[in-house]
Amino acid sequence: MAKKTIGVLALQGAFQEHEQMLARLGADYREIRQTADFTADIAGLILPGGESTTQRKLMYSTGLLAPLQQRIREDMPVMGTCAGLILLAQELSNDEETGLSTLPVRVKRNAYGRQLGSFAADISLAGIGKFPMRFIRAPYIEKILQPDVEVLATYQGQITAVRYHKQLAMSFHPELTQDLRVHRLFLQMAASA
Ligand code: GLN
Repeated sequence: MAKKTIGVLALQGAFQEHEQMLARLGADYREIRQTADFTADIAGLILPGGESTTQRKLMYSTGLLAPLQQRIREDMPVMGTCAGLILLAQELSNDEETGLSTLPVRVKRNAYGRQLGSFAADISLAGIGKFPMRFIRAPYIEKILQPDVEVLATYQGQITAVRYHKQLAMSFHPELTQDLRVHRLFLQMAASA
């Protein structure tokens, strides 16, 4: 079977770190910067951390927003980390404008405040076990908006990772660790889609 190609949204932010994880796992990937990059053979998409407002604006100006949104609605596997989670959320408690709006959760941006701008913790992640979670001006999930959203991790009572059908989203940065397990899980989701 031909290898499946994973798209990595490369408009802004920490996309190269995701690419390094994919390369270490032997996966084929392509940077998605314009609509021409997002061809039908893309079997899964990674939305990196960064600045969600900038990424959202660039998704509009490049025309990528609508085709990405459509494929996610058609069940293409997608993984969003940090700003990527913000872009997937259907509701934001402290921002007017949502991005792709495909994930039925309400997210709070910069939710840990200034003191906890950046921190790390070993937290249990469902299906994986203890995982080194790195948070950088991180959001968290304030509310689940559909009963079939699966909570994968919490930290201090707040939800930090969820799965909803083929959408995997987390407020931390697995691409900034040496731990490949989250990316391996996502590749399995893309392989079986
Ligand atoms: N605070 C950023 C935002 O709101 C997200 C931070 C990150 O992706 N590390 O877009």
